[in-house]
Amino acid sequence: DAAINRIAAGEVVERPASAVKELIENSIDAGATRIAIDIADGGKTLIRVTDDGYGIAAGDLSLALSRHATSKIDGSDLLNIHTFGFRGEALPSLGAVGRLTITSRVPGADAASIRVAGGKLEAVKPAALRAGTVVELRDLFFATPARLKFMRTDRAEAQAISDTVKRLAMAEPAVTFTLRDVSGGGEGRVTFRADRENGDLFDALHARLARVIGREFAENALQIDATREGIRLYGYAALPTYSRGAAVTQYLFVNGRPVRDKMLTGALRAAYFDFLSRDRHPAAALFIDCDPTLVDVNVHPAKSEVRFRDPGIARGLIVSSLRHALAEAGH
Ligand code: ADP
Ligand code: MG
Repeated sequence: DAAINRIAAGEVVERPASAVKELIENSIDAGATRIAIDIADGGKTLIRVTDDGYGIAAGDLSLALSRHATSKIDGSDLLNIHTFGFRGEALPSLGAVGRLTITSRVPGADAASIRVAGGKLEAVKPAALRAGTVVELRDLFFATPARLKFMRTDRAEAQAISDTVKRLAMAEPAVTFTLRDVSGGGEGRVTFRADRENGDLFDALHARLARVIGREFAENALQIDATREGIRLYGYAALPTYSRGAAVTQYLFVNGRPVRDKMLTGALRAAYFDFLSRDRHPAAALFIDCDPTLVDVNVHPAKSEVRFRDPGIARGLIVSSLRHALAEAGH
């Protein structure tokens, strides 16, 4: 079983940033309004995610670490997925390749913690915690030396973690995110912070994009909101005159999940085709929301690819609504 977990872990957890992604998504699924991420040495020696979500009952802690145990789906409805998690794979995988400690408290009960290291589960113990959940992952891949070798420099891994946190922060403007580098111990250094944004969908998103991508992007961005055949596209797309040189500023989300998808980036390129030059890329943060049965997010355990039942609708929606917005803005 430990071996199976280690194999699965290779799929779910490629590098520290993928562990961070899984843990933050769990916090979001748990209704957290504040998520703090502490990392050391590019996440290689420590990743700690603290949230104020609804917690895990002491009696469910060992269940959360067993394979394919998820509280989020009943098995009959794999296509109808509303939460981030649905495979029950992340925590057992992390516990198989690192030293994982989960401490949690549900309202009205005492806090408890559980540890699993290299797949070896320890008994649940009483713990001290005011509320929410703290998941601490130390020494990622210590149990799989081959994987360890593939990690990049601390700096590169910390950068990947920062990108991951920022993408998730864009998708959740109402949540406060704090990313801290605690390498070498002590208080550490806050490397990214975004406080909860208020206001309606667009105000909150606009403010969050200004925070994460930058003021200049937000000030040069056109608001997009269009729906076609049950698929809604919304967000912000920059005027062609906004340029970050060769830097690619493209953030795409499907049902709240950050995705990197060739079809979608291709549609974005097509929409901006007349304005593109070699050193200029379209810049946008766009969200596609649709009935979960119209899109398959089950393509890969890392869940960043998607497959639309009818890709033409999503593509057409992106191309036509961006072109329309650009034309209205005089381009
Ligand atoms: P999944 O997210 O696919 O359900 P995970 O292995 O990521 O699988 O998590 C297993 C279970 O542990 C979740 O279904 C959830 O019940 C619980 N859990 C994990 N993280 C948290 C958290 N931060 N707060 C509350 N519950 C959590
Ligand atoms: Mg999960």
